[in-house]
Amino acid sequence: EKFKEIMDANQMRRALVRISHEILEKNKGVENLCLVGIQRRGVNLAKRIQENIEKIEGVKLPLGILDITFYRDDLSLLSEHPTVNSTRIDFDINNKKIVLVDDVLFTGRTVRAAIEALMDMGRPKMIQLAVLIDRGHRELPIRADYVGKNVPTSRKEIVHVLVDEFDNDNRVIIEQL
Ligand code: 5GP
Ligand code: MG
Repeated sequence: EKFKEIMDANQMRRALVRISHEILEKNKGVENLCLVGIQRRGVNLAKRIQENIEKIEGVKLPLGILDITFYRDDLSLLSEHPTVNSTRIDFDINNKKIVLVDDVLFTGRTVRAAIEALMDMGRPKMIQLAVLIDRGHRELPIRADYVGKNVPTSRKEIVHVLVDEFDNDNRVIIEQL
């Protein structure tokens, strides 16, 4: 059929709780840690990780935003040029451990643009990557440190990540084009 659910609200919530714990474990706590979400849905997921970590450790991590879009107006997934439109990072990233957060990892080009933008802003100690869905098809040597779910896809499929803030729903669906 055309649509297939791959995560429901509970699975999404648990995956983000797990990722939050993994971030704390890998970094041995919250020291120098900060989050940067990639607009739009990466920011919502980053906020949930921020809330989870606040519940677990009692510390609210700094959260910045990178707005990266493609030279295209649809989700044809063919464009090669993600560009950084704007950044909202109101903390010093020098010597910080930055966890980039995005909804879907595909070719890796968006993350590459994000890394480049961060490196232009200073000298982070480390950059890590958390994604809810890794759908494969990488075109660059980029991988995620934290993955909600690995979902093998064909290039003819689109992953829809629905979040409360925009969609009044929390779930992940694959659409067969
Ligand atoms: P990449 O740059 O790795 O090719 O694509 C990742 C970026 O494009 C992410 O910011 C993600 O939001 C978006 N993206 C790529 N493929 C999909 C997809 O199948 N579904 C959704 N929702 N976003 C995608
Ligand atoms: Mg995106």
